[in-house]
Amino acid sequence: MSKRSKTSSRNADPPAHTEELIALDKRHFWHPFTPMAEWCAPEHRPVVIASGRGALLRDADGREYIDGNASIWTNIHGHNHPRINRALEEQLGKIAHCSALGATNEPAIRLAARLAAFFPAGENPLHRIFFTDDGSTAMECAIKMAVQFWQIQGQSHKREFLAFARAYHGDTLGAASLGGIETFHARFSGLGLHTHHVTDLDALEKLPAATRENLAGVAIEPLMQGAAGMRPWPQGMLARLRDWCRRHDVLLILDEVLTGFGRTGKMFACQHEDVVPDFLALAKGLSGGYLPLAATLTTERVYRAFAASGKTDNTFYYGHSYCGNPLGCAAALASLDVFEEENTLASLAPLIEHFAKQLEELQARTPHVGEVRRCGLIAGIELMHDPAQRTPFPPEKRTGARACLAARNHGLLTRPIGDTIVLMPPLCITQEQIDRAVEAIHFATLELTEKAGRT
Ligand code: PLP
Repeated sequence: MSKRSKTSSRNADPPAHTEELIALDKRHFWHPFTPMAEWCAPEHRPVVIASGRGALLRDADGREYIDGNASIWTNIHGHNHPRINRALEEQLGKIAHCSALGATNEPAIRLAARLAAFFPAGENPLHRIFFTDDGSTAMECAIKMAVQFWQIQGQSHKREFLAFARAYHGDTLGAASLGGIETFHARFSGLGLHTHHVTDLDALEKLPAATRENLAGVAIEPLMQGAAGMRPWPQGMLARLRDWCRRHDVLLILDEVLTGFGRTGKMFACQHEDVVPDFLALAKGLSGGYLPLAATLTTERVYRAFAASGKTDNTFYYGHSYCGNPLGCAAALASLDVFEEENTLASLAPLIEHFAKQLEELQARTPHVGEVRRCGLIAGIELMHDPAQRTPFPPEKRTGARACLAARNHGLLTRPIGDTIVLMPPLCITQEQIDRAVEAIHFATLELTEKAGRT
């Protein structure tokens, strides 16, 4: 590793077309999670994505980048995958959208059955599937189902929730009130659900009985908290949590919006600890990262409470216009086919091993790489002023953001969480592309520090 990576090429004169797009963007497009004054500053030139193939993205100037965060944690098998493209084209030739209220459609029916088949037997299999649009609505749906479930059981007092410090479950009001990240959630606290936050299972065990008895559910991002900066939970924690929920008759809501679809090395994170929750929220990778689509899986026990009594009062009056969208479901079915046809899960093990080794080396050879937290193909690389003392950089220096900007010049596109650089590429990334991505982070970090130029 002695010379700088040169993975991107750029036309000498950016096309006028790109300049026009950027001007229009800055005039009209309000971007999510984005300080807009900085975005619109004259010196900031946004990347305009024009196309993608596999784990690579290409911008409107012709520069190529590794998609380092799988397009905000969504993409699974790569961009422009011929198998998923074909499925979408076929579905488009039939119908793009029709309502799931008062009608049904084949892709949604088949997808519901395919998802149910991941949890075949057991005392309470996850065989009932409710479709929504994104991670937040998958969680919103689980929350509302949990509240109504207890109402139907005659236990209306069970309407509070428990979540973990630094949790992130989405931005709609219900999902946001489960969140525990100051920057995202503080402004809206108190507006949504009554939620109790704990740091870990020991704190959960100490919860006063009076609080416990009012809980409808506990929500958790299994194995790893994402937006908290990619922070893994201790091994065995999930199984213990399942046990606690069972003992106290509290519904367990697993948010696998980030961890689902192979990212942790298994199809779902809960499979690492043989846990079957009462609700499983899926989104992002469900459609292969192609279209907004989400699903909330729940058990026969929950479903029967709503449906089996025959009382229409118990109907779940909840939904969205695009629930069970045929196009999204066709993409999701094709993505599941690709898992089988390309043997994706089996081929992940050597890739994950390579990823882990590269990250270990990165930490060893790159000053200011303080901590690398990893689970499967998800990694958070935390930059620190002094890793030995665990001293952070002053937040106002925005070191993580600047490192990600610098990484672009080395052909890697990703986003930071504070000073943690996220690296979680599509599962189709090659070992050589992993090397390039890690190298980009190495050089980008060096450039920001006094060590720049010494390699
Ligand atoms: N849950 C988790 C664990 C997430 O990481 C996210 C988004 O990052 C969400 C929920 C919200 O998903 P969406 O942005 O699709 O609404």
